[in-house]
Amino acid sequence: MAKQFEDKFHRKFYYLRLSITDVCNFKCTYCLPDGYKPAGQKNSSFISLPEIRRVVKAFADCGTTKVRITGGEPSLRKDFSAVIETVANTAGITKVATTTNGYRMAKQVDAWQAAGLTHINVSVDSLDPRLFHQITGENKFHQVMAGIDRALEIGYSQVKVNVVLMKDLNHQSLPTFLNWIKDKPIQLRFIELMQTGEMDTLFERHHVSGVAIRNQLIANGWLLKVRAANDGPAQVFVHPDYQGEIGLIMPYEKGFCETCNRLRVSAKGKLHLCLFGDRGVELRDLLNDDAQEPELIARIQSQLQTKAVSHFLHDGDSGITPHLASIGG
Ligand code: SAM
Ligand code: SF4
Repeated sequence: MAKQFEDKFHRKFYYLRLSITDVCNFKCTYCLPDGYKPAGQKNSSFISLPEIRRVVKAFADCGTTKVRITGGEPSLRKDFSAVIETVANTAGITKVATTTNGYRMAKQVDAWQAAGLTHINVSVDSLDPRLFHQITGENKFHQVMAGIDRALEIGYSQVKVNVVLMKDLNHQSLPTFLNWIKDKPIQLRFIELMQTGEMDTLFERHHVSGVAIRNQLIANGWLLKVRAANDGPAQVFVHPDYQGEIGLIMPYEKGFCETCNRLRVSAKGKLHLCLFGDRGVELRDLLNDDAQEPELIARIQSQLQTKAVSHFLHDGDSGITPHLASIGG
């Protein structure tokens, strides 16, 4: 390994979140309530397979070991399995993960596994099919659950399930979720609702801190697990009576950014230093030829020196991110 991506606060970057499309077929109230609308920019094609190969190789050559393929909905790309294969075949990448709405999982997860996908996150905001429909705009609860069952059946040792925590919708569902994971190898992760550019009153109406859930877990004998270097930002709790685990992602908590170990590349080939940063740095002009790798690495490394110590969400500043489908959550 030639170099290690590191910023001026000595944070090292082991984890790349790569968005491969902005398109999504769901209409989650907190993300794309009116459905996907093309941004109408010039050069609107999404990052191609050769571009993906080059960008992932550059990151791997600088210490990245884990890549999460996200979107929009990544499985809507026809070449999704080829994307997985390209990432999995990159020397140095040991974890190839995806975050999906699960819509195509029951039918396609076998092919994703064969292509080299090692970890799966699926979004399920409610175990009540009607509420699931209300939140996502799609009546696909049973299809998504069948996808999770299939993934476990074919040998994934754990599936992670993302739940966006929303006051008055699902914030009191902990007992139902706990019951579900008692005998299932599922890591259920409550993500605090994050404010984004296009969100109006939804945030004020539904944002709720994960602290109450953490307190309930601790009071009931759940224990905090130690974090690995390329793990995501979740605080993960385990309990001897449960096969499943509970994760909490609390971006509004003090110190959240101190352990930041991830960088993002958007579906249009821009480097984002933070989910809530104020700009994307063009990389695409350096993804045309393998010989450009040294220049690509130099650009990423120099941009990293401008990475801020923390996001500014507490000041109501969510940067340029209109919604998380635009750079992959
Ligand atoms: N379409 C895929 C999915 O939904 O899993 C991948 C992309 S989605 C943007 C990635 C994750 O971000 C999902 O788990 C979603 O629930 C979460 N997310 C989207 N908007 C959010 C917001 N405003 N606050 C917190 N989480 C959000
Ligand atoms: Fe689509 Fe995922 Fe956004 Fe829902 S959270 S609208 S599934 S990108």
